[in-house]
Amino acid sequence: MAKVTLDGIRKVYPNGFEAVKPSSFDIPDGEFVVLVGPSGCGKSTLLRMIAGLEDISEGALSIGDRVVNDVDPADRNIAMVFQNYALYPHMTVAKNMGYGLKNRGVSKAEIERKVAEAAEMLDLSALLDRRPSQLSGGQRQRVAMGRAIVRNPDLFLFDEPLSNLDAKLRNQMRIEIRALQRRLGVTAIYVTHDQVEAMTMADRIIVLNGGVIEQIGTPTEIYENPASTFVAGFMGAPPMNLLKAKVNGAGTAEVTEGLSFPAPAGASGDVLVGIRPEDLEIAEDGDMQMEVKIVEELGANRLLHGDLGGQEFSVSVPKQQEVTEGQIALRIKSGEPHVFDANSGRRL
Ligand code: ATP
Repeated sequence: MAKVTLDGIRKVYPNGFEAVKPSSFDIPDGEFVVLVGPSGCGKSTLLRMIAGLEDISEGALSIGDRVVNDVDPADRNIAMVFQNYALYPHMTVAKNMGYGLKNRGVSKAEIERKVAEAAEMLDLSALLDRRPSQLSGGQRQRVAMGRAIVRNPDLFLFDEPLSNLDAKLRNQMRIEIRALQRRLGVTAIYVTHDQVEAMTMADRIIVLNGGVIEQIGTPTEIYENPASTFVAGFMGAPPMNLLKAKVNGAGTAEVTEGLSFPAPAGASGDVLVGIRPEDLEIAEDGDMQMEVKIVEELGANRLLHGDLGGQEFSVSVPKQQEVTEGQIALRIKSGEPHVFDANSGRRL
């Protein structure tokens, strides 16, 4: 087990591209941290620097109490699980799982004991003699995890480990990974572009955008208090509505005449008012008039898309609520609208 500290870590690729701007954060011992962001935001680069697969251009990386910038990947006591599993096709499950130990000169008996223990934990005991081609995708992913576990690492790194699995298996595996990490108590850093994975698995989420950390927080903090319009739009499905508005002399953010929201003290000029689709309800006396153009059936609820104050807007309602296209009245049922500066995108 180990804490991990990044102090001003930066990555500039040889072609001069700055993929990660100077970034700092601490991960306490035993925490499960998810790095999330869109394609190209720098999350794999950051993970690969922690793994030692990519040089660090600037800053200090510590695992435990040791600065490891110049330590070989093999000597960092890290285990990495990739999306393509990276299993040896000609080896059995047992051999795949024990391979790293064999290379380190661990005795045969000890390897067998550790592999059996990990296989038991991962429900792989009956499959130890099979080859990877005789396994399902989920089972292969479990073998990849088994290979990581037997090495007793200080730190688990996951690089989009579930992206090759179908939706149902992905849901199941994310629960398994989380349960396993809790049970082992190992610090884990998990990279994904999937905000649902981030929300459901993380103790803390780090949202990256264009090589910059936009926000670090628990899933609840990130969902309830997004630091920027980027985080507001990226985390949460369907995404938060963002209405263009102007703060007037009375200190309210006005979208159009008759449609305004409270603005925080100090807000001025152009702002964006953020309201989550699930924070609204249909109410006869509601003071927000929406024109519903499309009703999307999602099973447990319905998503209504249309127009509010001349801007695109969506509302989520329970499946019990019958809705047809046309005019409806809405009110906010929970929380306060979020207000962001229209130029910087930062929360006000
Ligand atoms: P994805 O989800 O698509 O894998 P990512 O967030 O993991 O994206 P990275 O792979 O870390 O993104 O890449 C970050 C940025 O750095 C991208 O713009 C990418 O094109 C660039 N990049 C990656 N590797 C190199 C390289 N060897 N040389 C130059 N630029 C690179």
